[in-house]
Amino acid sequence: MIQMINLKKQFEEIREDVIKSLTEVIESSTYILGPKVAEFEKSTAKYLGAADALGVASGTDALHLALMALGIKEGDEVITTPFTFFATVESIVYVGARPVFVDIDPETFNIDPAKIEERITKRTKAIIPVHMFGLPAEMARINEIASRHNLKIVEDCAQSFGASIKGKMTGTFGDIGAFSFYPSKNLGAFGDAGLMTVARDASLAPLIKKLRNHGSAGAYKHDVIGLNSRLDEMQAAILLIKLKRIEAYNEARRRKAALYTEIMKNKVDCPKEPEGYRHVYHQYTIKSPQRDKLKDMLASKEIASTIYYPVPVHMQPAMSGLGHKKGDFPMAERVSSEVLSLPICPCIDDSDVRRIAEIIAGA
Ligand SMILES: *Cc1c(COP(=O)(O)O)cnc(C)c1O
Repeated sequence: MIQMINLKKQFEEIREDVIKSLTEVIESSTYILGPKVAEFEKSTAKYLGAADALGVASGTDALHLALMALGIKEGDEVITTPFTFFATVESIVYVGARPVFVDIDPETFNIDPAKIEERITKRTKAIIPVHMFGLPAEMARINEIASRHNLKIVEDCAQSFGASIKGKMTGTFGDIGAFSFYPSKNLGAFGDAGLMTVARDASLAPLIKKLRNHGSAGAYKHDVIGLNSRLDEMQAAILLIKLKRIEAYNEARRRKAALYTEIMKNKVDCPKEPEGYRHVYHQYTIKSPQRDKLKDMLASKEIASTIYYPVPVHMQPAMSGLGHKKGDFPMAERVSSEVLSLPICPCIDDSDVRRIAEIIAGA
């Protein structure tokens, strides 16, 4: 069976380091926001070129805390894409604001900047671009629109750790970057974990530190209402070990992706990487009107494939209160019916990539 991702194989490469570091943490008996978290935050901020980086409990919390830190509240509107993981939009609902969708560019799977301005109203306060599947959204155009309309930007970087535009990392373009270290993400913990970067306005960092810790900077004084959303030492210990290898992991993903594309490019619609963009292939996602047939064919040969995402967020039952109907965001809807993500991870054998690509190219 070829799986989407082989986490066991990745663990075997770092087993000794992980056991040693976890043992240190256990023996230290400091389990939450300790020295490993501090070291990880510092190393990550440096790697990403961010003013500061702050560990939190998950990517979902990072998005939620970002909107809290920026003061987004009931009555506000936040623009985002309907073609994303549900958590992007949930975070907007958590703070009482209204999600306003803008359709995507089907070539990049990312929010279409040309369609943003027509959705801006007096109530619009922020934009959440998602760097879908590891390809950065068009940040130059999005930043330009945001500054013209005085809007905040929260980047959803859950799938884009290490992705960049002209060498500038995702998570450093907007006001706050929200990262997830869910185990299958490019940088994955052994449980839930997340991180927030601050770029333009470093003065947000002390507020975020309070918000992740019950609104307190310490000594049981609570200045604001926050969450309990801290990164724990065990996860930080693992993430530090993997952070040292993230360039190699992402380069390996890029090589596997290039191999897929080389074999399939004349037969099926392969992912694009615009000039100057560094795609980190959290997913390698093709488009085909024959998607379901391809999926069944792969399954019959014991090869996994996954549909990210079969139902766009505006069509989810939980979002029915927004009053959307089929046809409101035609690109997101069409793409949802055509996408298929193929196995990709730093550890997948080239021979497996070749086999999968040849099956699809020959279909
Ligand atoms: C994974 C993911 C999240 C949520 O991250 P968690 O750590 O699972 O809470 C948010 N947005 C996108 C686009 C994601 O892929």
